[in-house]
Amino acid sequence: MATSTSEAVAVEGREPWDVERIREDFPVLRQTVHGKPLVYLDNAATAQKPLAVIDAERNFYLRDNANVHRGVHALSERATRAYEEVRTKVQRLLNAREAREIVFVRGTTEAINLVAATYGRKNVQAGDEILISAMEHHSNIVPWQMLCEEKGARLRVAPINDRGELMLDEYEKLLGSRVKLVAVTHVSNVLGTINPLPEIVALAHQRGIPVLVDGAQAAPHLKVDVQQIDCDFYAFSSHKVFGPTGIGALYGKARLLEAMPPYQGGGDMISSVTFEKTLYNVIPYKFEAGTPNIAATIGLGAAIDYLERIGLERIARQERELLVYATESLSRIPGLRIIGTAREKAAVISFVMDGIHPHDIGTVLDQEGVAIRTGHHCAQPLMEWFGIPATARASFAFYNTQEEVETLVRSIEKVKEIFQ
Ligand SMILES: *Cc1c(COP(=O)(O)O)cnc(C)c1O
Repeated sequence: MATSTSEAVAVEGREPWDVERIREDFPVLRQTVHGKPLVYLDNAATAQKPLAVIDAERNFYLRDNANVHRGVHALSERATRAYEEVRTKVQRLLNAREAREIVFVRGTTEAINLVAATYGRKNVQAGDEILISAMEHHSNIVPWQMLCEEKGARLRVAPINDRGELMLDEYEKLLGSRVKLVAVTHVSNVLGTINPLPEIVALAHQRGIPVLVDGAQAAPHLKVDVQQIDCDFYAFSSHKVFGPTGIGALYGKARLLEAMPPYQGGGDMISSVTFEKTLYNVIPYKFEAGTPNIAATIGLGAAIDYLERIGLERIARQERELLVYATESLSRIPGLRIIGTAREKAAVISFVMDGIHPHDIGTVLDQEGVAIRTGHHCAQPLMEWFGIPATARASFAFYNTQEEVETLVRSIEKVKEIFQ
């Protein structure tokens, strides 16, 4: 296969963390931008891909390309087997009970839209409520707004405190009898806040309310266990877990998925079709109409293998060190304010600077080779909450280094020289 044995040896086991060795797996990191070494700190927008992922996609097209679930010929069987193996890998990644609880979708956005369009349409009526939090990504706001508009239901928003933590007591007060679903992020893409999901889920379940979790920012950084969280739905995107774009997964408890109507109609989601009546396929295929992004799915499988070889616990530990170091370093810069200081945080740092627009920060940093994100980060209501139009955001991955944090700090000092 694509993965060389040297790579597996370098990252396997409990040997010392060798970030330079890991960076060799990511050719894109080895380049200069505006004459400076690239410092990629926009991992919350999309993560870079290791060679193992790039090779897995390429090898699929070189050797195995065929449609899945249809042909009886060798290539189709090979493609189907590889494709379905990835479902088992996702099951393992999330610790789902069964592989049929994993539905392949385009990404987190589509996963949430799928639940809104199927579970939501079936179960939400006029006067009902959907409860989200103040720190949601637009992907976990707009589908619910659309559903509420269609049904005459109401979107409620659980507040957060100044540190950017969900206020659990306020959340609990909002869990009234009209609430039909809670939709909440695992990790905030702006604040880095890690939400206390077991508590959030338990409070909702005490009242019989199901919970959907937006896991887009958690899956790349934390060991996720949907059985331990006990959430009803969990969504993530491949491209943020070092896999290809165009694929992701929705976990749903089998009992719920089985009771849900299909999402899109077409090939693969049926068991029989006549012009009078169509019988739908079993889960998860009932939700997977049409030819999927097969190569990207294979790539996602390679990304999961890669992550598991390194170990998500080790990744979380390394990123925690980077977060602490970067937080301390940035906090020492006068006039810089970090937005999002939750006690439980992933390696995402949003900040603003006195008198300097975030876009100017981003532009100067780019000249220094440092890639960060500036803007509202698809969370405009959250920006409003903090009373700011935008932030600059540095988001880390396990391949980032302490030296890169130092380059970030030096570049921010340049920003100050230019604008103050
Ligand atoms: C990126 C992101 C999404 C959307 O993911 P897509 O891959 O664009 O569908 C949703 N929620 C959060 C928290 C995100 O970071």
